Amino acid sequence: MYAVLTDDPDLARAGIGDRTYYFVEYVDGTTNEPLEGTVASVACWGDTAAVEADPERAAVSADGTRATPDSEGHHWGTVCPTDPDYRADLLERLEDLEGDVRLTTLGFPGESFCHCDRCDRQFAESEHDDRTAWRSAVVTEFVADAAMRVDGELTATLYPDPYPGHLEERAGLDVQALAEHVDGFLVPLCSPGYETTYWLESLARGFTTELEGLEVDLSIQLSAAEIEPERLAEITRKLEEYADEIVYGTYPDDAEVVQQVLNRVRGKDTPKMSA
Ligand SMILES: [Zn+2]
Repeated sequence: MYAVLTDDPDLARAGIGDRTYYFVEYVDGTTNEPLEGTVASVACWGDTAAVEADPERAAVSADGTRATPDSEGHHWGTVCPTDPDYRADLLERLEDLEGDVRLTTLGFPGESFCHCDRCDRQFAESEHDDRTAWRSAVVTEFVADAAMRVDGELTATLYPDPYPGHLEERAGLDVQALAEHVDGFLVPLCSPGYETTYWLESLARGFTTELEGLEVDLSIQLSAAEIEPERLAEITRKLEEYADEIVYGTYPDDAEVVQQVLNRVRGKDTPKMSA
């Protein structure tokens, strides 16, 4: 299967792929009206606007660093995943959506998050001795609650690190536990132009191993920017061995490239001979 991911409503309606992911809530806090028939892409705790409006809401690390866009290694603001009001509002918004949903910015924004007073207290009062396990339980519980409210398929975005244990340590994402509640995982492997490609296969293969035996689909997201269609088609053919779906992050200017890639991989167009 091939899909397009966009925040452009016209492109979303153009029907280029088998399905379209459409940004409904973005990490900067902006929102779009959902579009019928598309997969609504919803940022969970990534919400710069919420964090700017109330900096106390940002997740905080053991050394007191807040997860805001101006902190090193953070490109957007991240609300603490145990913020009860934020969680309730987010679940309510997910319930209002119709059809398929993809969750992004799922989990804690780094290994040393979150050490706010509420998280310290909730961990101390929990049945867990290990903070990593507690964090994973927080995220899994949220995804389980989300799954009960989403009426279509639910896809969770994973950080592209399939090394065993890394996703739990980094974000509190326990893939085995999450797999009970989601239909699929989406892994972004984006790099405009793809000057090198060896890492794509390594990571895709790693996730195939990680998801072995689980009843979930694997979607891989690629960038369609600054690349020739034949080269992106070549990358697609290689990654299709590992993934159930290839999703192209597409700006309106790159729509033609994606269309040409799909013509090639679907066999509607013969590849150009290259020297
Ligand atoms: Zn916290």
